[in-house]
Amino acid sequence: AMFVGAAMGTFPELYANVQKAIGASERVMEILNEKNEAISIVASENQTKKIITGELAFKDVVFAYPSRKEITVLKGLSFEARAGEKVAIVGPSGAGKSTIASLILRFYEAQEGELLFDGKPAGEYALTDIRNQVAIVPQDVILFGGTIKENIGYGKIGASDEEIIAAAEKANAHNFVTALPEGYDTLVGERGIKLSGGQRQRIAIARALLKDPAILILDEATSSLDSESERLVQEALEILMRDRTSIIIAHRLSTIREADKIVVLEKGMVIESGTHDELLKNEEGLYRYLSQLQFEA
Ligand code: ATP
Repeated sequence: AMFVGAAMGTFPELYANVQKAIGASERVMEILNEKNEAISIVASENQTKKIITGELAFKDVVFAYPSRKEITVLKGLSFEARAGEKVAIVGPSGAGKSTIASLILRFYEAQEGELLFDGKPAGEYALTDIRNQVAIVPQDVILFGGTIKENIGYGKIGASDEEIIAAAEKANAHNFVTALPEGYDTLVGERGIKLSGGQRQRIAIARALLKDPAILILDEATSSLDSESERLVQEALEILMRDRTSIIIAHRLSTIREADKIVVLEKGMVIESGTHDELLKNEEGLYRYLSQLQFEA
């Protein structure tokens, strides 16, 4: 990552810009992370604690981006996801949904409050151990130059072909991959063939399945796929989310009805939380209002 000089700003900002501009692949993030760790967070190399259950909690978190200190993005945010729960974060644009994902991945440190993994402060874990146990499926998946096998295998160092294929099968990717002339050895990325958005998502899901993290962050796609592709992606996501803590950054309300908990965010604060049915009962609630808007649209 030498191509990025210090003059271009901090890595977290760069990361955010890259992600905003092109959508970030996990690979891009990992590369950026290497430097980011040295800059924004005092790496805790001696920590040996591992995330096991995947329980996650924000406690009174106050956060402003280092480059825009005058704007407090999260204003005392608290919520928790119990081990294996599916928690959807919804709210208007700019409410701070993506910021929550960046804090879980430890791209930034909160100014006040605490982020807890398995009930212990995030600072008690080494960054590498956190990132080994947190996977993200971004909105727009960008594959890196290389073969499909490499793109999936990146989820787990030393994965065997059998493991890669098993992950691809669960992710509904195996059939389209084997239909390509070179199968798993097909080159993708800039110099390779162009896969559809839904196919790229299924590759990213296969990669995350192979990684088998305790915590999954799903940044739901805003642009809709055709219905067949949508169904295949949705099915694969359900398998991926099963039995692991999943934080769903929801841009459409339709997909989150089944969440164990919906956290409604407005201006960096939780204003409501509950299940879909519970939230709909609140006649004055933002969730009910947003649902009605989407329904009408
Ligand atoms: P959307 O639904 O539009 O994606 P969001 O709820 O995910 O919105 P965030 O992206 O978390 O919202 O942004 C919350 C606030 O933080 C916004 O005011 C945004 O302008 C600001 N912000 C986001 N990223 C950065 C950054 N890298 N540097 C400075 N400010 C940022």
